[in-house]
Amino acid sequence: MNAPDLSLSRLIAAQPPLEKLVIACVLAESQRVGAQPLIRGLGPASFSMLCATCLAGLELDNGTAPAPVFDEFDELFELLVEHAAPLDQMSLWLAAAIATAAQRDNHLWQDMGLPSRRELNAILRLRFPGLAVLNVGDMKWKKFFYRQLCQSAGVPICKSPTCGVCVDHAECFGPEH
Ligand code: SF4
Repeated sequence: MNAPDLSLSRLIAAQPPLEKLVIACVLAESQRVGAQPLIRGLGPASFSMLCATCLAGLELDNGTAPAPVFDEFDELFELLVEHAAPLDQMSLWLAAAIATAAQRDNHLWQDMGLPSRRELNAILRLRFPGLAVLNVGDMKWKKFFYRQLCQSAGVPICKSPTCGVCVDHAECFGPEH
């Protein structure tokens, strides 16, 4: 059986709201890189409802591969949920989608299959405003998330007391092209 057509142009045409576009992009990128599950942390009923809501009834298989044991999916999912507003089903799906993509190796907007960082900024401000507003210096989102997690756990990751004098400044704040 051929894989469903998840081309970006089709998804954008079919799903104008930003939340649905973001979910569809993450699904398409997960499918492109062969990730399973496509979005982690969702039971079969929740994933089926996600497809019905965000893909206009197009049914996908989320996959059954076991999740890696050692990564930060759970912590990042919880951080996002803690700041979700509103805390509804869509925010839970988005938190799972973002935390799934964040375990990959590129810039977060790329790992989510988004057209640019603008859509990532927009969805975080729209659905996780209390977290997005804390990124006052426009830090790269993955760096920002992990800094938040480390601060909550009381684990220092920074080599300098302030970002302006830090040798890792370019890592945390450089352009994300
Ligand atoms: S620039 Fe340095 S001090 Fe600032 S968040 Fe990054 S690692 Fe920490």
